[in-house]
Amino acid sequence: MKYKWLLFDADGTLFNYDLAEQIALKKSADEIGLTYDENLLQAYKKFNGDMWLLFEKGEIKPDELKVKRFSLLLDNYDFDFDPGKLSSIYIENLADCSVLIDGAENIVKQLSKSSKLILITNGLKTVQRKRFNNSSIKKYFPDIIISEEIGYAKPDPKMLDYAASKMEAANKKEMLIIGDSLSSDIKAGNNFGIDTCWYNPSGKSIDQEVEITYEISDLKELLSILND
Ligand SMILES: [Mg+2]
Repeated sequence: MKYKWLLFDADGTLFNYDLAEQIALKKSADEIGLTYDENLLQAYKKFNGDMWLLFEKGEIKPDELKVKRFSLLLDNYDFDFDPGKLSSIYIENLADCSVLIDGAENIVKQLSKSSKLILITNGLKTVQRKRFNNSSIKKYFPDIIISEEIGYAKPDPKMLDYAASKMEAANKKEMLIIGDSLSSDIKAGNNFGIDTCWYNPSGKSIDQEVEITYEISDLKELLSILND
């Protein structure tokens, strides 16, 4: 086993974030009487994505992000509701969705036999803690590192440094970060100076300057990479 320490992103890498987001948004919209449809989902994704990019750049705090994405959405639909309240409803609903990417549990189980694993996420603590605690993969991870709790977010290398010390990783050459985001996961790995594995199930193109050690479209591919 080439890599003894594996740092996994959570959303979109092990957790099926797209599905969780859809379920939580629909439930929240239903609760406040806003009509849910594909356009609403796409509008939310756009506003949410924009806010997360600002967050990765350190231009916005988690508390602002949580509410701003909904104030933009409600304004866009001219719907009168308190965005802070909607944010709380949504977060509650999202935390209840711990649905995993197909096959993730089995892969993690296999890998945990020969490597130490840690989850490292920029998600919100109220969502991530609850979802992690409810998930079937919890037993394979000694810990989850959440940016909102430690005060640094990927791609800041301090977050990986913190994770490395938590898992007592001794050698950067034996560490690998696995994630679906170029701007947070892969960039963080580059900034920290470790190998990277880009999980790219939908075949996105590379739109920024990053160094990718491995690219996979299915988590199963990790088993052969790691057993080389
Ligand atoms: Mg992700």
